[in-house]
Amino acid sequence: MRLRLPEERPARPPTGYKIAYPVLSQDGTRSGFTGVSLGGGSPYGVLDDARCVYGRRHRPPARRCDCGFHCLHSLSEALGLTCTGAHRRAVVLEVTVLGSYIRYERGLRYARQRVRTVRVGPCACGRPPRRLTDAGWGRPGWRVLGPDCGACALGLTGVTFAEFARLAGGQLKVIPSQRDGPADATVPELMAEAALLQARLDWFQGQLAKFTGREQL
Ligand SMILES: [Zn+2]
Ligand SMILES: [Zn+2]
Repeated sequence: MRLRLPEERPARPPTGYKIAYPVLSQDGTRSGFTGVSLGGGSPYGVLDDARCVYGRRHRPPARRCDCGFHCLHSLSEALGLTCTGAHRRAVVLEVTVLGSYIRYERGLRYARQRVRTVRVGPCACGRPPRRLTDAGWGRPGWRVLGPDCGACALGLTGVTFAEFARLAGGQLKVIPSQRDGPADATVPELMAEAALLQARLDWFQGQLAKFTGREQL
């Protein structure tokens, strides 16, 4: 008796989430992504087919192999992976799963994918990211990029989010992480901050006046 997996015929292709590193080709003309696991395979583009990492002559996802693209069902689980030390500077991709796939409890293993959005975490200094710059390592022919606020990695090779999307050759949405901070504050937030500073200055001047008043006694 042969056990067969139940077949699914979804009305629209499934969506999944995964972590990856953005990469820029050595000549700066192409961008893409590379997997986070050791031997994460060769870099892939916005729309790409998986290849068997063991070089076997089958099309991923082969049942007796573990090759193919992988993703998780849940965005929060993918975001959670970026808390681990090794993956702090990885980005979170939202992908459309194309072609055949095998469903697991937490995610899918599949043949073909289109990257839809890239969520970029904060710069190492904690400020919101503005660019993707040379992270200091890579794969042959590819530099891995990391989030940069625009001030920390001055002088290093890098691209803006729009440039990265253009070089990837696809309709890619790049979403910078939203963190409160002066760089990203709205006008009402800045006015509230100014009011607070004014109140502190008033208090400070009041205290100072007491001292100068005493000294005059
Ligand atoms: Zn394989
Ligand atoms: Zn920074």
